[in-house]
This record gives sequence, C-alpha cells and structure tokens, in this order.
Amino acid sequence: MIIETLSTFPAMFDSVMGSSMMRIAQEKGALEFKAHDLRDWTHDRHRTTDDEPYGGGQGLVMKCEPVFEAHDALCAEGVRPHTIFLSPQGTPFCDAKARELAEQERLLFVCGHYEGMDERTYTLADECISIGDYVLTSGELAAMVVIDAVVRLLPGVLGDERSAHDESFNDGLLEYPQYTRPASFRGMDVPAVLLSGDHGAVDAWRHEQRLLRTWTDRPDLLEHARLTEEDRAFLKSLSPVRGAED
Ligand code: SAM
Repeated sequence: MIIETLSTFPAMFDSVMGSSMMRIAQEKGALEFKAHDLRDWTHDRHRTTDDEPYGGGQGLVMKCEPVFEAHDALCAEGVRPHTIFLSPQGTPFCDAKARELAEQERLLFVCGHYEGMDERTYTLADECISIGDYVLTSGELAAMVVIDAVVRLLPGVLGDERSAHDESFNDGLLEYPQYTRPASFRGMDVPAVLLSGDHGAVDAWRHEQRLLRTWTDRPDLLEHARLTEEDRAFLKSLSPVRGAED
C-alpha cells in the first residue's frame, strides 16, 4: 500500500512513521509512506498556504490553489489516490472504516491547519474523517491515528496474523483481559483458568469475558455485535444484575 500525506508540517510524521509497527511495515515492504509538504506547491517568496477569511472573522483559512495543484500532481504520478480530508466535521473514524481503507491501493490524507480549509478544496475529497468530537490544532495527528489503525491491518505487518483478528471491535466486542508473569502480584492473582493448560476452558473464559466487558463498559456495541444464541442467553442472564445496580 502507498500512503501519502499533504500538510504544512510534514516533519510531524517522522517520529511516528519511523517507529514501531509503522517502521516495520515499511521495512517489510507492506507500506510505502511519503509526507508531502504543501508549501512545495506554492509560488510566492513566503510559500504562503493560508489567507484571511472572506466575510471577516478570526484566524486564517488554507488556500485552495496549493491543495488543488498538489492533488493534480500526485494524481498524475500513478493510480489516483483515495483522498481523505481530516476534519472534525467528518464521519467518525472506527474499526470498520480502518478495515475498509486497508483494502485500498493508495491513500492520500489531506491535513488542515489554522481555521481549516477553503470549502472548495473538499470537492477533491473521496471522504472526510473525524477522529472524535474535539478540535485539534492540525490534521497531522488525526492522519497518524488513522494511518496507524490501517497499517497494522495490512497483511504481514503484525507478527501473528491473528493479532489484529482477536482485538477489540473486530466482531463488535471488546477484547478479553490479558495477563503476563508474575502469576501473583501485590495480592492480585491471574485467573486460575489461564494457568490450567486447558485451551478449551481458556477460550470459553475469554469469550465470556469479552461479552461481560462489552456489556459493562460499552453496551452500545452489543446492538451490532455478532452474537450467537448462547451469547444472547448469557447476556440475558446478566441483565437483572445491572437492573439491580441501577
Ligand atoms: N474551524 C474548524 C472547525 O471548527 O470545524 C476546525 C479547524 S482545526 C483547528 C484545523 C485542522 O485540524 C482541521 O482542518 C483538520 O484537518 C484537523 N482536525 C482538527 N480536529 C480534528 C478531528 N477531530 N478529526 C480530524 N481532524 C481534525
């Protein structure tokens, strides 16, 4: 997969894309990453990418010319990138979207800054993504969140192919609790079943824990989770307990 970003602070990507799984993904050849500097498509001495808003008001707005020019140039380089604008007004990002984007051949993330982008630039967007209902200073951090979530899903990136499969949200449930050595720490013991060596019992316990944890912490997810009849019966058995707590 090719992932590119277009922003005014491309150096922000250096640390994240040069570390951990993002670095390994590039070393393994699963990912080609390029952070483009929007200023490379400006033509004035100050490499200006922003200007005052029409109609007045505070702050600066990102100009459309460099964004269009950059997009044209990048599209001319090969397969047209699936173009994503990061915006707090975009569609909320989620695991299903990460899995969808992981199927693309080439992604381009356009990052805003200041008060945001000239509205006309959004005509270039295949979609707009928000990483949550809060406002960041610029789109680079948001792009990095989305890129990380997508890249770890690419084949061969995580050591064990099942790692991304077992994690929270994959089938609509949160992940089960995890433990490592020591078996006992400050009076807190690892659940005995995990030390039993009985893989069937471990799997059953983990699945029950996923249901329990989702029911407790994110009951909203259960509405769309893939549940068996047994799962539903188990959850139903929990409901009176919560009713009593309420
Ligand atoms: N004035 C804009 C508004 O109220 O919708 C916010 C602009 S914000 C200060 C500057 C840039 O940061 C945005 O253009 C976008 O690229 C990025 N950004 C900020 N919050 C974001 C979020 N929650 N998700 C995705 N991108 C975000």
